[in-house]
Amino acid sequence: MTTATAEDFVGIVSQRVEAERHVLAGDWLRRLNDLLPVDANDVFPSEQLLDHIPTLIREIAVYLRAPADEEIAANTIVIDKARELGRLRHDQRASVHQLLREYEILADILETFVVEETRRLGLQPSSEECFELLRRLTRSSRTLLRTTVDTFVSEYMTAIEDRNERIKAFNQMASHELRSPIGTLLFAAAALERGEVRADPVRTEKITATIKTNAQRLSWLVQNLQRVTRLSSPLDVPSEQDVEVATIANEVARQLQEMALPRQVRIVVGDELPELCTDPARLELALINLVSNGIKYSDPSKGDSFVEITAGKNPPEGSCILCVRDNGLGIPEADRAAVFERFFRAHAHLDAQLGVTGSGLGLAITADCIRAMGGAIECESTVGVGSRFTITLPLKPPQIRNSSAVAPKHGDAS
Ligand code: ADP
Repeated sequence: MTTATAEDFVGIVSQRVEAERHVLAGDWLRRLNDLLPVDANDVFPSEQLLDHIPTLIREIAVYLRAPADEEIAANTIVIDKARELGRLRHDQRASVHQLLREYEILADILETFVVEETRRLGLQPSSEECFELLRRLTRSSRTLLRTTVDTFVSEYMTAIEDRNERIKAFNQMASHELRSPIGTLLFAAAALERGEVRADPVRTEKITATIKTNAQRLSWLVQNLQRVTRLSSPLDVPSEQDVEVATIANEVARQLQEMALPRQVRIVVGDELPELCTDPARLELALINLVSNGIKYSDPSKGDSFVEITAGKNPPEGSCILCVRDNGLGIPEADRAAVFERFFRAHAHLDAQLGVTGSGLGLAITADCIRAMGGAIECESTVGVGSRFTITLPLKPPQIRNSSAVAPKHGDAS
């Protein structure tokens, strides 16, 4: 049995905490492992974790033995580490609840360790010394928690402001786009009320065709807006899950069957489509836009029109490739670079002849979805032969593979 003085007691215990910081960080990770529904190493890669947690534990130990000259909130190293942890956990899309739980477990582990070491080393501190040590322990972990959560919340505030800006821009764009066909419809309705127009079958037919085109345009716009809205998910709930691309591709084919039939376009879903962990709503929206374009811009002069979704060969390590190919009209070379821009339409002059309408938003939204999933999209096309859109996607979402990646933007069409 050792009878320690007050200074010896905190000195010995804090040195033990410092010496065992890597073991304590390991215990913490194991406790989290039991708590998390997914592998903890997937959520916070352990190298990054082990870069942060032992440093925090060491600084807590320093504070335990010298609380007066080492005010923990004034210690820039430890506050920087706590802030870094806040940013890291934000990038990894943790929730505030998770963060609170993580610190709670850390405090619990440190308290248990202190009690066990006191017993193991036969230290006999007075009750005042015990309370003082536990008070310092609680105070330090609370200060660190506050710093981490403040940083975490301020990262979210920036993300929310950013999203609000994008929603505002999107609303402006959407109302601008809606106004134009609505104006045309009102104008056409007023024209049809006039006796001399109704008496002229050629003019009546022309106006009816205008009404139809603009109503279709409105319908496309509203559908796109609905799909974009459906992409929004609560900020701290990851939307990624394991998906079989074949299931999504078949669902897309089913949804577009009605559109494909009158144009006699076959939708083919290839075998051997991959499985990946991604946001299924974004993937579905991207495929819907690409396949519906393949149908809209099919070549009426061809006997056997098709749009196919297949797996591409030789994907880069950790990725997969999806191809959406058609044998439609193709896109003139001069227009190809612009097709992913908002409101760009290469075949607007053929709308009446093809019986289609569009907003020039579909491919911009598609490219945005693919980017948000951490992937890339390319377009190759030859007029008269057809088009191929090649999507490269990571098999795992970027914020899980690499915590420094920017979290996907929800509901963004810009
Ligand atoms: P839209 O609503 O006009 O279809 P998109 O953004 O989806 O807008 O596409 C932009 C333009 O790119 C289309 O207007 C069309 O001219 C061209 N395009 C897109 N996909 C195809 C395709 N598969 N074949 C030929 N042209 C296409």
